Amino acid sequence: MKLLACDLGGTWMKLGLVDGGRIIAQEVIPAHSDIGLGPRLPDLGAALRRLVASQGFKLSDCAGVAVSFPSLVEPETGRILDSYGKYRDAPGIDLVAWARENLGLPLAIENDARMALIGEWQHGAGRGCDNLVIVTLGTGIGTSALIQGRVLRGEHGQAGCLSGHLSVRYGGRSCSCGNLGCAEAEASTAFLAEIAAERADFPSSALSREPILDYAAVFRHAATGDTCATAIRDHSLLVWSTLVVNLIVAYDPERVIIGGGILASRDLILPAIQQFVDRHAHTPWGRVHVVGAELGDASALHAGEWLLREKLSRTTP
Ligand SMILES: [Zn+2]
Repeated sequence: MKLLACDLGGTWMKLGLVDGGRIIAQEVIPAHSDIGLGPRLPDLGAALRRLVASQGFKLSDCAGVAVSFPSLVEPETGRILDSYGKYRDAPGIDLVAWARENLGLPLAIENDARMALIGEWQHGAGRGCDNLVIVTLGTGIGTSALIQGRVLRGEHGQAGCLSGHLSVRYGGRSCSCGNLGCAEAEASTAFLAEIAAERADFPSSALSREPILDYAAVFRHAATGDTCATAIRDHSLLVWSTLVVNLIVAYDPERVIIGGGILASRDLILPAIQQFVDRHAHTPWGRVHVVGAELGDASALHAGEWLLREKLSRTTP
């Protein structure tokens, strides 16, 4: 099967041509998600046409388009339900109709954390395992769950993928979602500047002189004994570990995959979470393995074929 796979991120649109399960060509274009999705569709369509032509194929050689989107998506209709500040106009856009009218192809769309899970399940760290949870530590915290080979979606596409908003600190920091003490509010790049600025030792910390405050800086300065960076690192590890134990309680996975940009520090993060899980997760049947994602940014493109096959099997009698 040939298909087009699109990962519509907040900063970049990553596009791939998949043939027989392999990504044979890729193109990356700027997302400009701040101006919305509608104004970007002509560029997206042109890039997909270029990608197909670059390998000597036609659009009609492809079975369809699979899209990973950074928001909640209605499972049956493919309607985008929310925007979280990226592509603000997306909930009013019918991407399925756009693909049919402009490319002549069916389109399947799914939440980005769920696509990361499907990609890792099919081609990466989740191969051969039908009970999985993924936690993506990026700007925010994305999650998704696979139970007995079924991707958990729920009636409104929310099931499993909003666990970054599980409360891990009772009455804790206010989150953008309206809840208090969410894992995302307590330990994610999006909240890092706010978390650091509230600490009394921040002005004297090396972190206050960093042009960009991210977890790479936190882990780097913590390693030199900076007290502010060390406190933020240790709190964040506790938050992520607590979240993983909560997900193990909720979804009964055999393996938990940790992905996202923060995994540059994976040699420290993965053993810390594994140790916490070994101590605190109630799994009398055995041990849940905490593993790093293998596919990185490409996981959504690798998930495209599975998603499109699922969609075609639902719509073709
Ligand atoms: Zn929240």
